[in-house]
Amino acid sequence: MINVAIDGPVGAGKSSVARECAKRLGIIYVDTGALYRSCALFCVRNNVDISPENEQAVSELLNSKLDLSIKLEDGTQHVIVNGEDVSDEIRTLEISKAASAVSALPSVRAFLLGMQRDIASKNSVIMDGRDIGTVILPNADIKIFITARPEIRAKRRYDELAAKGSDVTLGEVLVEVNRRDFNDMNRKEAPLKQAPDAILLDTSDLDFEQTVSGVTDLIRDLGKI
Ligand code: C5P
Repeated sequence: MINVAIDGPVGAGKSSVARECAKRLGIIYVDTGALYRSCALFCVRNNVDISPENEQAVSELLNSKLDLSIKLEDGTQHVIVNGEDVSDEIRTLEISKAASAVSALPSVRAFLLGMQRDIASKNSVIMDGRDIGTVILPNADIKIFITARPEIRAKRRYDELAAKGSDVTLGEVLVEVNRRDFNDMNRKEAPLKQAPDAILLDTSDLDFEQTVSGVTDLIRDLGKI
């Protein structure tokens, strides 16, 4: 069994790198951002305000009505909300914003904590998010904090959205990336930060293959896989 924790800001390349590394190593990749996005989508669909003043209602809604699970298909994670696969619906700019807001609520983080730890206790995983190395898996076998310069991260996120047909501008995405990073780093509960024992990896000047092989080597060097 091996638990790998990958954290970092928006658009650092965490998800695509973690997914490919997991594939090469034959272990499971868990995208925890998708869980926060699913909670956000559920609140939006139910017209529940996600501001901190309304936390009680959000918590009640999630705890009483949301059945959230993940399913793996050919190594790809799908998120299932009350029986419906919402993996595509959660990838809009609107849900990104809502996920950032919902993730600041302690009761939402508590709602998702057990689920994340449970998956990691039963499987060899690469789990990516914002607080995996600091809160969810403090005893992970290895922690990697992946980052890149903000303009580069915004461009990567923009390319992803544009490829899906979104008509957002690069400027809008840069504003959104900066705002989400600010929220994630400054919230009280489980803020985004590098764990003291995490390895820092700046991918600004690395291409995808260099990053993937670097991370895969770090994991293989542990000798557990
Ligand atoms: O990684 P992704 O961009 O999909 O995450 C969406 C949002 O969910 C982030 O902006 C962050 O606010 C929140 N998140 C979090 N903790 C995690 C993963 C995501 O707070 N472990």
